Amino acid sequence: MSDPGPVVELRRVSRYFPRPRSIWSSISRKPTEFVRAVDGVDLTLAAGEVLAIVGESGCGKTTLANLVIGVLTPSEGMINVAGIDIASRSGSGVRQMRRHLQMIFQDPYESLNPRMTVEAIVGEPLDVHGLAGTKQERQELIAAALSRAGLRPPEMFAPRHPHELSGGQRQRVVIASALVLEPAVLVADEPVSMLDVSIRAEILNLLSSLATERNIGILMITHDMSTVAAYADRIAVMYLGRIVEIGPTMQVLRDPQHPYTKALLSVVPVPHPEHGRKRTILQGEAPDPANIPTGCRFHPRCPMAFELCPTIDPMLMPTSGGAEAACLLVGRAAEPASA
Ligand code: SF4
Repeated sequence: MSDPGPVVELRRVSRYFPRPRSIWSSISRKPTEFVRAVDGVDLTLAAGEVLAIVGESGCGKTTLANLVIGVLTPSEGMINVAGIDIASRSGSGVRQMRRHLQMIFQDPYESLNPRMTVEAIVGEPLDVHGLAGTKQERQELIAAALSRAGLRPPEMFAPRHPHELSGGQRQRVVIASALVLEPAVLVADEPVSMLDVSIRAEILNLLSSLATERNIGILMITHDMSTVAAYADRIAVMYLGRIVEIGPTMQVLRDPQHPYTKALLSVVPVPHPEHGRKRTILQGEAPDPANIPTGCRFHPRCPMAFELCPTIDPMLMPTSGGAEAACLLVGRAAEPASA
């Protein structure tokens, strides 16, 4: 059978935001500055794959998620979701795309209407897309979605309101209302960060099994490297609007090639004190995304920087382990930092 291709594809995608002008800037006629929140990103997501986008707050990962779900339009580049070019979408194209692509938000407390029953919440997307059919068909679709999301027996949960559920059960309702449309893609923005630690693994297990069993591509946005270790097939590390390392999860976690990935991993707690990594504390704040440093954008904070780093902007290059990293040291023998 031929490869159906990726369910999400981004080509050279950028998103710039004009920075609000101060009165002084207007008077002095300074040109408008643009914040480069996402800056030339290439990415693919396959059916049945979990791809984690990780990085510090402000790295552009949430803007990237909003571009994929169509809340934002790209300033440049092409985004294709389930075969639909969303930059050139029309009204019906948007609706078609929304059916294939569903979002799971960070906060299940805020994303559910407290006045609606679980049945009404999960049935609403069917009504919006005109897929409800007869009353019995609608109930069967809702029951199947609740079951798949782990709310069993579904008839016990359907008449309840959100306040009658635990945090984990509420997030399962959010997942059920996404599943009811049989989407090809789920975008999960920090899906467990608001949940108790004890139920995070359950929800991540559920998402991982949905990817495998329902062949759904899942784009998971997270700031927490330890969250993704057991659940993502691939990791993409973002820094200042760009992917600086991407590859199979275990490869990136065991043998990171980009100094930024190494620094992020060095502060992830490990269960055994003798197996800990040497911590790398990055110096300074991430630079202003309206004034991205020349050359390698990580060079002002990079502990491995050398004389070429401020002048050459490295692209993603294949590493020996099957990942890709945007660092001038990739493919070279380990070099000392310049004097
Ligand atoms: Fe560090 Fe230079 Fe590699 Fe950039 S190119 S990550 S500054 S060593």
